[in-house]
Amino acid sequence: MNKSEKIKLNKKYNCKLKDESFDESKPIESTYRKQKFEEYVKLLTKYDILTGLPNSSYFFKKLNNTLEKTKINNKKGAVIYMDIDNYKAINDNWGYCAGDSILKLFSQLINGCIEDGAELARLNGDEFAILVHEFNNIIEIEELCNKIYKELEEPFKVIDDEVHITVSMGISIFPDNSMNADELLRFCDFAMYKSKHKGKCTYTVFNNEILDKYYREALIKSELKNAINNDELDIFYQPQINALNNQIRGMEALLRWSNDKLGNVSPAEFIPIAEKTGDIVNIGNWIIDKALEQAFIWKEKGYKFDHISVNISPIQMKKIDFKENLLNSCAKYDVPPNFFEIEITEGILIDACKEKIELLNEINNNGINIAIDDFGTGYSSLSYLINIPINTLKIDKTFIDNIENYKNKILIRSIINLSKDLKYNIITEGVETKEQVNLLAGLGCNIIQGFYFSKPLPKYEMEALLKNISEMK
Ligand code: C2E
Ligand code: CA
Ligand code: CA
Repeated sequence: MNKSEKIKLNKKYNCKLKDESFDESKPIESTYRKQKFEEYVKLLTKYDILTGLPNSSYFFKKLNNTLEKTKINNKKGAVIYMDIDNYKAINDNWGYCAGDSILKLFSQLINGCIEDGAELARLNGDEFAILVHEFNNIIEIEELCNKIYKELEEPFKVIDDEVHITVSMGISIFPDNSMNADELLRFCDFAMYKSKHKGKCTYTVFNNEILDKYYREALIKSELKNAINNDELDIFYQPQINALNNQIRGMEALLRWSNDKLGNVSPAEFIPIAEKTGDIVNIGNWIIDKALEQAFIWKEKGYKFDHISVNISPIQMKKIDFKENLLNSCAKYDVPPNFFEIEITEGILIDACKEKIELLNEINNNGINIAIDDFGTGYSSLSYLINIPINTLKIDKTFIDNIENYKNKILIRSIINLSKDLKYNIITEGVETKEQVNLLAGLGCNIIQGFYFSKPLPKYEMEALLKNISEMK
């Protein structure tokens, strides 16, 4: 028996909208039919027409009633919010009719999983919720979630294809998390996003840590909007040192953000948020401009270094004026393009389409250097090494951390040999000890960026270092 047949046999599924005594196709003539019509319209305000399940407003009414009862009986209840993973792909691949059938079958399947004392509703599109009126132990809720995942292991049959469905779930508990229906749904939503973040097809029970993270992210989003205007951004510079002669090869410009409400926020935290909001474009342009201005000032003072590099987010590269901006900034401060290096990660190259390769070629043909950042961590196909113009590979810190490991050493040596054959410069990042420097020198890599030589430095400390090294010559 396939899944569709199994569901048809499930007596529990009862669509209230399929009232046989009312035939929509016939005109409303008699008082009887008028009355039936009014009843039908009333049902439509409560039930979803596709699945026959309670709709979102009726669900909220039910939830509020249950919350009222909870005040008296002191029982715990739960809202399990479900979102079908990649539902858009189902509509795109099989069409909207098939998408609708899946929603119907899905709702029937979930209805078959829940016991008396729980109710399913369709809130919106591919979002559903189960209201569990009461439970004694959270294990009961987890068992229900696992039962749903077990049932979903079997594919749905759509036309002649088999479609596998997974769901991400977020759970909030009353009265523990809240006694407010809106808030409970909002908490479910946060927990559901956490499930999506964990890789989908899983459930998450809401907790205060999720709430704190949400509020912090919301605050970062709003404060970041004015970070440039309020002069809150700064740049630290981390030198890249040639271990053979202790000279500075160049430096990487790294963003720093200090905010009244949030204190110092690490770029590892705020850059992904700025990428989500799109603010990374303005912030990215800001750091390119300021770093090149600073490079010009230091060159004017006669300090010796050959490169300044800036990290570039994939979002920036999508902007139509990206290349022009880079070249205009070089021209504005009279910095030769070959003095400037952009760092991109392998992630950018996963979908290295023709346009992207052309853009990188144009940038490189204009003299700007391209470095592959965090090399070896992006799980990307090495074939991009053939298509993309590359000047520098930056070997990621994770390789250096385990440099004592025999296989790791072989891997580093291979990357270094590959880079030499392909005429790439190599920089090793995250080098913290003398032993690591010596081992790397033995493997043929001498350009080091890491705490062993220097942490990222504020402008004045970087200037002092440049001055010292220039005077030593
Ligand atoms: P990244 O580009 O890989 O930068 C290197 C990071 O490693 C820096 O962290 C640096 O402080 C740290 N680091 C360098 N040497 C060592 C070491 O020896 N030991 C340890 N433990 N860490 C070391 P930071 O400055 O916190 O930056 C984190 C990430 O944020 C950067 O990683 C980069 O991906 C991103 N980021 C920073 N500035 C920008 C920017 O202007 N634009 C974009 N798109 N991303 C940026
Ligand atoms: Ca970098
Ligand atoms: Ca890096």
